[in-house]
Amino acid sequence: MYDVAVIGAGIIGTFITRELSKFDLKTIMIDKDADIANGTTKANSAIIHAGYDAKPDTLKGKLNEKGNAVYGKVCEELDVHFKRIGSLVIASNEEEMESIKELYERGLKNNIPDMKILSQEEVREMEPNLNEEIIAALYAPTAGIVSPWELAVALAENAVDNGAEIKLEMEVLGIEKNEEGYIIQTNNGEIKSKYIFNCAGVYADRINEMVASRTFSIHPRRGQYNILDKSTGNIINHVIFQAPTKLGKGVLVAPTVHGNLLVGPDAEDLEDKENIATTRERIAFIQEKSKKTTTKIPFSGTITSFAGLRAVPSTEDFIIEESKEAKGFINVAGIESPGLSAAPAIAEYAIELLKGIIGELKERKDFNPRRKPVIRFMELSDEEKAEVIKKDPRYGRIICRCENITEGEIVDSIHRNAGGRTVDAIKRRVRPGMGRCQGGFCGPRVMEILARELKIDIKEVVKDSKASYILTEETKQNKADQVENLEETKIS
Ligand SMILES: Cc1cc2nc3c(=O)[nH]c(=O)nc-3n(C[C@H](O)[C@H](O)[C@H](O)COP(=O)(O)OP(=O)(O)OC[C@H]3O[C@@H](n4cnc5c(N)ncnc54)[C@H](O)[C@@H]3O)c2cc1C
Repeated sequence: MYDVAVIGAGIIGTFITRELSKFDLKTIMIDKDADIANGTTKANSAIIHAGYDAKPDTLKGKLNEKGNAVYGKVCEELDVHFKRIGSLVIASNEEEMESIKELYERGLKNNIPDMKILSQEEVREMEPNLNEEIIAALYAPTAGIVSPWELAVALAENAVDNGAEIKLEMEVLGIEKNEEGYIIQTNNGEIKSKYIFNCAGVYADRINEMVASRTFSIHPRRGQYNILDKSTGNIINHVIFQAPTKLGKGVLVAPTVHGNLLVGPDAEDLEDKENIATTRERIAFIQEKSKKTTTKIPFSGTITSFAGLRAVPSTEDFIIEESKEAKGFINVAGIESPGLSAAPAIAEYAIELLKGIIGELKERKDFNPRRKPVIRFMELSDEEKAEVIKKDPRYGRIICRCENITEGEIVDSIHRNAGGRTVDAIKRRVRPGMGRCQGGFCGPRVMEILARELKIDIKEVVKDSKASYILTEETKQNKADQVENLEETKIS
């Protein structure tokens, strides 16, 4: 019997699980997918918002700035890249000027530090490549960028280092309440737990309805993006938003922590909670919209496009509360933007709710907030590189030539706690396949390494999910079969 089960291993589930691992509790986090961060956490703008956007009397408004403030510390502890590069909301006419003033006033109410409305000259000095029609901008220096999936993986790893358990490919199909707590039925056995955190993203409404009647619903709102080659990442230096108007929020242009350029998203309400397809029309739409920010984006340098689903709640705010009908069942639902930014504060808030139910929790004296540092080969000095290769020659073999990722880094990412087991899981952890060729060259090598390290047949290596096999037969075997078939045809 577990004390706490966390359903969903996105940024919210992983932050909560790591927070729980600070206490003397038997904790498990489960997810239906084959990896951590495979839902909305893998497909968003990756911005740690300053926090001026949400209304002050909402949970979004209260938790965004609190979360933002601790990002530096958490990312330092977990050895995850985070850059506090600041953001600009640009205004190109009087209506937009009013809009950024409103954001500024709201930011003051939300206690956002050091915001400033910049003049046209100041904007131009900071960002020479922006559109010349821009007349002013709201500057918020505390905004940042992060790699959301790397952070979620690091949180999960650190939680496991501190005693938590993780089970993947475990889809919750039903939940039964009994005297002691809950029995969670999954496609892969039962889990008994006294308390549950429901962090199931777009599916949080369905999980809630397994124990209680419908008090909220979640609908998916898709957002599509272009991601451009690293050679384009320095066109701008800050996260650039367009001022929200009656016509919508516009699109953002931002560098990523790895130096790419991100352009998007649009917003499209859907029914299907699995539809993360990109469409030609919408990608054309975001490209067109981005011209208001800058006309200097070389879209020919696009390396891929992707889409994510916002978990839009019927309540219009984060839902973080114990179910009125199911004691000890805590919903952490409707975590749309700024969910990533607020995540550390959401986790703290959720743990306070648990304390309100169980009483004070006993802290673990041996909790270690740091995870084993990651060797990022290309970030080392020549001397350090030589030292690392001397200890382990696999760091001397480059597997991904676009991102310069070594075999040593890939092997390490497989064998860490919460290590990767699929091609995409490795891509998210150490980036082979994130570069210009999108895995065209390194993909087969990564598969070989996965098969060797996991001691499985290479045909069992999957791209992303249980059934996403990449290889079926050996090509030569296929050819031999074809020749045989041809000969049989001739004879008959
Ligand atoms: C287009 C877009 C842009 C965004 N930009 C930003 C931004 O710049 N800054 C920001 O702060 N926020 C942003 N967000 C919001 C942010 O991405 C989310 O708030 C955050 O990722 C939500 O994390 P989560 O853990 O709640 O959900 P998810 O990451 O979706 O995790 C939920 C998990 O639950 C699992 N699950 C679901 N059902 C079951 C089941 N039955 N059994 C087991 N497991 C299950 C899923 O597999 C999934 O892994 C954006 C969102 C989108 C879509």
